[in-house]
Amino acid sequence: MPDSEGTSGRPTPEQDVGDAVRDAARTFAAGELAPGYAARERLGRIERELIVRMGELGLIGVELPEHLGGLGLGARVAGIIMEEVARADMNVAYVQLLASLTGSMLAASAGELAEEVVPAICRGDSLVALGLTEPRGGSDAAHLSFRAERRGGGYHLSGEKTSISLIGQADRILLFARTDPGVPGAGGVSAFLVPLDQEGITRTAFDDVGSGAVGRGSVFFDGVAVPERWRVGPEGEGFRQVMRGFDYSRALIGLQCLGAAAASLEETWQYVTEREAFGAPIARYQGVTEPLAESETWLRAARLLCYETLARRDRGEPHTAEAAMCKWWAPKVAFETVHRCLLTHGHGGYSKELPHQQRLRDILGLQIGDGTAQIQKMIIAREKVGRVAVPY
Ligand SMILES: Cc1cc2nc3c(=O)[nH]c(=O)nc-3n(C[C@H](O)[C@H](O)[C@H](O)COP(=O)(O)OP(=O)(O)OC[C@H]3O[C@@H](n4cnc5c(N)ncnc54)[C@H](O)[C@@H]3O)c2cc1C
Repeated sequence: MPDSEGTSGRPTPEQDVGDAVRDAARTFAAGELAPGYAARERLGRIERELIVRMGELGLIGVELPEHLGGLGLGARVAGIIMEEVARADMNVAYVQLLASLTGSMLAASAGELAEEVVPAICRGDSLVALGLTEPRGGSDAAHLSFRAERRGGGYHLSGEKTSISLIGQADRILLFARTDPGVPGAGGVSAFLVPLDQEGITRTAFDDVGSGAVGRGSVFFDGVAVPERWRVGPEGEGFRQVMRGFDYSRALIGLQCLGAAAASLEETWQYVTEREAFGAPIARYQGVTEPLAESETWLRAARLLCYETLARRDRGEPHTAEAAMCKWWAPKVAFETVHRCLLTHGHGGYSKELPHQQRLRDILGLQIGDGTAQIQKMIIAREKVGRVAVPY
């Protein structure tokens, strides 16, 4: 399916680039990522050399500006890579996701610090985790309590960030802290980029249902002194920065989940032509093919929504509501699709020999991560009718 259409019906130059990137990403992902999807879960991490290789191939942060080590190719092309990588291993795609999310925030607001760090992200030399959620809750993130207290020429950071993806493997964290305790909501929050090897930082790991290769955990800061130059953007801007970032990452997450689901669906179409019951391939029975045909429709529609959102971003148009639509709907239809694929494979589908159970567990995490469906629907309502649609 074309990724975009020129009015003449011929491919646009952007489409040519997108198609070439898709071919390169698909070849790499099928050859070097897919065979290790299950093994990476057992290993409990993503091999660093693989991340560096993706950086060398230009598969990380393609939309980031060229002077910061990216390729300046736009969000839609980043989405294409996300989809292709996730088709092979949706956990590896967290590398692209976090690079695009943190890289775009740093490129927009971090000045000299961005020049230091963003090229390393694009090369695959630096993994930056995102620290917003705290033990008291993630949905109401504006009321976070992690503290950045001004001391001397810098800040002292204290508190816990929890549920952080890739925290065990990351070397930096882009975190959000309250710099002004007098401002309880979003306006008192500032962003900081902190190397995770600082004294006073400890990390713990969770034992999760899925995405074992990514890993999630908590990180504790015990009065960690950081210089002012590690603050990203002005004081009080952090919450707005991360919300703008989520307007991007939510469409990428949609494609991440859809890529994994598309892989299951393709495998299942093939399977129904081979598996026989009652003397015929099970593709003969509409009870078998109808759910798959429905899923085919959902995936196509959800994919178009994600690419439309990314195209709006590339054109500089508002896309907050669209990104929230991607985030609640794409993981839901992806989960439902993989569930159907698993059932269509019968007893074999329930085995760890086949990837459907792993994809199902991995997609489930992204029905929560980056905001649940209820929160996305609240954002859509707020974009339609204003702040009357939010709790306070
Ligand atoms: C796989 C995974 C990866 C993650 N990665 C990261 C990461 O890298 N960095 C990070 O900072 N966080 C991360 N998170 C945390 C994630 O962003 C939060 O879990 C999420 O925002 C929800 O917060 P919570 O879990 O504290 O749920 P809560 O906020 O406690 O909510 C509990 C339930 O109540 C519902 N709810 C809450 N308020 C409302 C409301 N007003 N109306 C309707 N329903 C409501 C929620 O939808 C949810 O179902 C990750 C989570 C997962 C599962």
